[in-house]
Amino acid sequence: LSSHSTKGEEVRVRFAPSPTGYLHVGGARTALFDWLFARHHGGRFILRIEDTDVERSSPEMVEGILEGMRWLGLDWDEGPFFQSERTERYRAAAQELFKSGHAYYCYCTPESLKERRDLAMKEKKNYKYEGTCRHLSSTEIETKEAAGVPRALRFKVPESGSIEFPDHVFGKIEVAHEQIEDFVLLNSRNHPTYHLSVVVDDMEMRITHVVRGADHVSNTPKQILLYRAFDAEPPEFAHLPLILGPDKAKLSKRHGATSVTAYRDLGYLPEAFRNFLALLGWSPGDNTEIMATDELIERFSLEKINQSNAVFDVQKLDWLNRQYIGASTAERLAPLVQKALESKNVWREEYAGAQKEYFLSTLDLLKSRMHSINDFAESGQAFFTDVYEIDEAAAKKNLKEPDLKELMPLLASRLKALDVFTLETCEQALRALAEEKQVKAGLLINAARVLLTGRAVGPPLFHIMIQLGKERTATRLERISALTFHH
Ligand code: GLU
Repeated sequence: LSSHSTKGEEVRVRFAPSPTGYLHVGGARTALFDWLFARHHGGRFILRIEDTDVERSSPEMVEGILEGMRWLGLDWDEGPFFQSERTERYRAAAQELFKSGHAYYCYCTPESLKERRDLAMKEKKNYKYEGTCRHLSSTEIETKEAAGVPRALRFKVPESGSIEFPDHVFGKIEVAHEQIEDFVLLNSRNHPTYHLSVVVDDMEMRITHVVRGADHVSNTPKQILLYRAFDAEPPEFAHLPLILGPDKAKLSKRHGATSVTAYRDLGYLPEAFRNFLALLGWSPGDNTEIMATDELIERFSLEKINQSNAVFDVQKLDWLNRQYIGASTAERLAPLVQKALESKNVWREEYAGAQKEYFLSTLDLLKSRMHSINDFAESGQAFFTDVYEIDEAAAKKNLKEPDLKELMPLLASRLKALDVFTLETCEQALRALAEEKQVKAGLLINAARVLLTGRAVGPPLFHIMIQLGKERTATRLERISALTFHH
């Protein structure tokens, strides 16, 4: 495969979403690969909003796309450009093609085209425009024009030969001209079509590499024909494998959240999600899975993109998220956990002020066990508020022993009596009590953990006690007398 553009010439890639929905997983993966490629080569990453379908596009969707990109840290160097503002430019380019003999007007009515398409479908054939208007005589054209018959502009696909292009992922792709219909450039409302606008923009924005989803492979031959007609050098192409759900069907809403911001709201770290997206159809060539952004940029190459479909494996995403959360500093996590606590109404301003140290050290204590950012506000709830739920199963398992009603308050008073409150003194106090009362230390430990945190699992008990402090620990242990159990 040639890679002429990477030598000398600056790499220029674009992400060109249609704002007919939010930024979904597939679009985000495309954007990430474009971005990684640009950053790897020190090139430019251009954002272009393909909002030509005015009925289906909205500013709200555009904002959603930008929001998703910002969340993932995909910063663009140029744009966003809006195709809706460039309609005149596309019309002018279409006229150039008409003048140079690469396009002709088609007067076939939508009804007659539909009839022909329906007929082909009935006969189980692929419909391809017959070129009816390609061969109209000048008198026929004059008559139609005089009658004001609506017209579309079609591209004149060369009769013989074929288009061949090297795809960085799929290798050599060849399509005979015969298989390509005379596609529409301007519709009967004089509106530019996708093929026209995308090629005009990629030419004018001097795009060197088109990196996009494999669903566009079949569009590429038409677009290359347009480059030729404009006497321009086509960019290089790399088509990214499809993303499938675990059931091997194309990824869709059925498989869970599809918009990128939904993953943010579910408590995924953007760096974990970005790492996950990078592995959807690409690998560095060894088994490395956890790669920080710098490493992704450094190792990314089009040649390591797989041809085979990628599978969206949410367990892997969860695993990566846990790894990233565990390895994050408390300072990194703080603003994100704050949001999660705020949405559960348990955030307190002191955590950013007088109790900041408590807040940060709590994050450090919890982070290696957290499944998501939201988990801090769920299983970690008791560290941020005194009003926390006691998990029913945990209570059933660890608090049902009747003696505990007496033992826990006793433990509380022993702890309160301690002069120094440390891991060691807490542990000594608990073990001494267990021995004195002839019970297993585990009974006290498990019960205390449930009372202190509402959960059966969590950080080591004595760390929990130190974190909560003597007073809170004692108060929570005493609370056992107020609990009622349904056995
Ligand atoms: N706007 C097109 C889409 O969202 C992408 C066009 C392209 O990358 O060439 O699918």
